[in-house]
Amino acid sequence: MTSCDAVIIGAGPYGLSAAAHLRTVKGLECRVFGDPMSFWNRNMPVGMQLRSGWAATYIADPKRLLTLEAYQQASGNHFTTPVPLDQFVQYGLWFQRQAVPDLDYRNVELVESEPGGFRLTLRDGEMLRTRRVIIACGIQPFAWRPLEFRGLPSSLVTHTSEHHDFGGGAGKTVLVIGGGQSALESAALLHEAGAEVEVIARASSIQWLQGWASTTLHWRMGKLTARLLYAPTDVGPAGISQILARPDLFRKLPRGLQNVLWKRAVRPAGARWLVRRLEGVPLTLGRSVISVATAGERVALQLSDGTRRKAHHVLLGTGFRVDISKYRLLGPSILKSIRRINGYPQLKGGLETSVPGLHILGAPAAWSFGPLMQFVSGARYASQSLLRSIAGRNPALEDLYQEPVCPDEAWSALP
Ligand SMILES: Cc1cc2nc3c(=O)[nH]c(=O)nc-3n(C[C@H](O)[C@H](O)[C@H](O)COP(=O)(O)OP(=O)(O)OC[C@H]3O[C@@H](n4cnc5c(N)ncnc54)[C@H](O)[C@@H]3O)c2cc1C
Repeated sequence: MTSCDAVIIGAGPYGLSAAAHLRTVKGLECRVFGDPMSFWNRNMPVGMQLRSGWAATYIADPKRLLTLEAYQQASGNHFTTPVPLDQFVQYGLWFQRQAVPDLDYRNVELVESEPGGFRLTLRDGEMLRTRRVIIACGIQPFAWRPLEFRGLPSSLVTHTSEHHDFGGGAGKTVLVIGGGQSALESAALLHEAGAEVEVIARASSIQWLQGWASTTLHWRMGKLTARLLYAPTDVGPAGISQILARPDLFRKLPRGLQNVLWKRAVRPAGARWLVRRLEGVPLTLGRSVISVATAGERVALQLSDGTRRKAHHVLLGTGFRVDISKYRLLGPSILKSIRRINGYPQLKGGLETSVPGLHILGAPAAWSFGPLMQFVSGARYASQSLLRSIAGRNPALEDLYQEPVCPDEAWSALP
């Protein structure tokens, strides 16, 4: 059985960023597993655009060399905000080739504790020993299907994350459930593909987000004011954005206040650039789904206002709920040892779980480090914190620890 010092599982923005950081530690043998950018490439729809602003869409490398601008220069592809999904995927793959050229595409099937570390079983049965495991496996297993929709066949009901292309929707009637970005953008894409779409959401109004990078915002507030109120990490509204950009500060706040800020930051909302694209799509708001049944080849819904709908398909834009017990690679015995709250692991510095040497990055870290961890822009903090906890106070890396999470250059990096 081969062995190494650390294994990163996952090759999305968090895994790649963590790998780029840990590779700066001399003598640390770190292996990285995963299909690069697979969630973005397979579980988000063709034609999607990123909601996050320009500087919030960098995948973090320690020297800030692998930026979107550097990718544009290397590839000759030019684009601006909103960043198109296909360009972000290509950027991620380019980042991987630069920072983690020896990425191993195999899935890790099982992580088990053993004295002094962990034993990993790979897809093909190969086993590996390591002292540390960094899990950066994303949110795909956490797709949330409300109870009333469970048990219906996927020909009638699917979650947005099960789709990569809405092109085949022409002529179909589709009910989209939810009032967040994913639901609204899917509705726009289906509408543009020729489907007859209706959005049904519990909220009584849709929150439309301006985004900190918006020129209108700068024009109205003045660049300096906008800069004081919004961090380039682009998570949360004015003022709150600056707190959430600093997870060390967020951690010190009382839990009640953390919950308020978190709720305020990630409430369902759509990017303002969707408004025009949704013209002609009925938005039925303030209504919930009471019952669901099959009706031959169709699905029949009853809403809380007593009205009924029949459609070819229901698309659930109902988001994701973190529950790390859904990470199948965590066997029952290791899972039992991870201290958890509402499905989230309780993490300490370095995003380490209560199992020494086991770290979890990305959305599951949000309970401990705030909602920034749910977004690409949180990967810089996560990777720096991880690096610090693994390399200790290594003088050779001191300049990397000093890197601010929201540097001034991020502001001038706007296209
Ligand atoms: C529709 C939609 C739009 C979004 N838009 C934005 C946006 O505009 N901006 C933003 O910041 N965030 C956005 N997000 C959130 C986004 O998903 C996260 O910010 C980001 O994906 C987190 O990266 P990650 O590395 O944690 O996970 P992922 O990108 O999901 O990567 C997970 C990685 O783990 C690998 N993996 C999983 N299991 C295993 C295993 N057992 N063995 C080996 N490898 C494994 C996968 O192959 C993949 O490489 C959006 C989410 C959705 C659903």
